[in-house]
Amino acid sequence: TTKSRLQKVCILGSTGSIGVSTLDVLARHPELYQVFALTAHTQVSKLASQCEQFKPEVAVVGSARAAAELEILLRGKNLRTTVTYGPQALCEVAGSPDCDVVMAAIVGAAGLPASLAAAKAGKKVLLANKEALVMSGQLFIDAVQENGATLLPIDSEHNAIFQCLPRNYNRRLQDHGIHKIVLTASGGPFLNRDLTSLEKVTPAEAVAHPNWVMGRKISVDSATMMNKGLEVIEAHWLFNAPAANIDVLIHPQSVIHSMVSYLDGSVIAQLGNPDMRTPIAYGLAYPDRIDSGVAPLDLAKIMQLNFNAPDFKRFPCLQLAYSALEEGKSAATILNASNEIAVQAFLDGKIGFRMIDQIIARVMDAVPATEVSDMDAIFDCDAKARALATEMVGA
Ligand code: NAD
Ligand code: MG
Repeated sequence: TTKSRLQKVCILGSTGSIGVSTLDVLARHPELYQVFALTAHTQVSKLASQCEQFKPEVAVVGSARAAAELEILLRGKNLRTTVTYGPQALCEVAGSPDCDVVMAAIVGAAGLPASLAAAKAGKKVLLANKEALVMSGQLFIDAVQENGATLLPIDSEHNAIFQCLPRNYNRRLQDHGIHKIVLTASGGPFLNRDLTSLEKVTPAEAVAHPNWVMGRKISVDSATMMNKGLEVIEAHWLFNAPAANIDVLIHPQSVIHSMVSYLDGSVIAQLGNPDMRTPIAYGLAYPDRIDSGVAPLDLAKIMQLNFNAPDFKRFPCLQLAYSALEEGKSAATILNASNEIAVQAFLDGKIGFRMIDQIIARVMDAVPATEVSDMDAIFDCDAKARALATEMVGA
């Protein structure tokens, strides 16, 4: 696609934190982008106001009932937005010949089919939905490569690494003299909290992230550091990096978004204010740069950047994720599925905070990782792990 034409953008999960930030960036550049499709699960009125502002060709919701509600809200607004619903409709908009760019920003495994549909249709895929890549791994990368899709990481750490790698990166670290990929981590709200009190933390405390405002699931993942664990696995697939070459470094200010360490001693880092509009704008405009609305970084005002090695005892989920990556096969699918169930149970008040890592560990012990040669096998394994985790949380 050339610059003379508007890029048509589909946002999967437009009502979420990433979705809203994406629309904020798009609204700054009407000369470059046009919204093709917006999707939401249940937040119908929020989606309706997004439709009024951005006039998408298609809007997708989770159910027939939500679709009927949306139709009513859009009536008389003089829009040509077609309303559809359900998982198949998500895949259709993501793979539509009428769209160029897909922002994959649904949370969790629910986002995999549509993210994959975008890859299979050869789209420019802006990937925020890390769970999709964690659970499907090589199969997702194959779909990208076989169909000529462009996969651009939106997760701030991976976007940073992408910016710090050589432009001609050939997916082999050693060919470029790369020693390590260093993922920075804020450490979340419980970095310095008394370990014995962790058992009693509430969902409200867990979602109160010090630096980023995000959806509830990823906020809990940040508190357990499973988020960083998922990101280690995500980095493995995105950059073809072995676990031994991916380090995690605690950096509470979240100003350095990640770095690449080279054999000659050079370390290249990407810095900025913690605001997802920066990686979103980079993904949208790549290889160009556009205004994102993010304020310039003022290091003199920040004054201090701190660093620590992560404490695997405080954050057992990080260890579980490294183990899943080392085990390979479908271990990461099992890790992700059991984490999703445990986090939801924690948010619903059914289990305590420390039960999250225990449930994941037990499901990983009980469900054997198997070779997965197609998506059906992935979804099978995901379902098995979910069923067992659901039993454990006593739903
Ligand atoms: P969120 O909870 O704010 O939004 C989730 C979106 O997904 C909503 O639009 C919701 O309608 C949709 N959705 C939820 N369940 C669905 C389902 N079953 N079917 C269809 N749609 C569904 O989440 P978020 O914070 O925006 O995160 C989205 C993704 O981006 C996650 O994978 C997260 O890990 C990743 N991510 C987020 C951030 C961030 O700053 N928020 C940073 C890095 C990565
Ligand atoms: Mg991240």
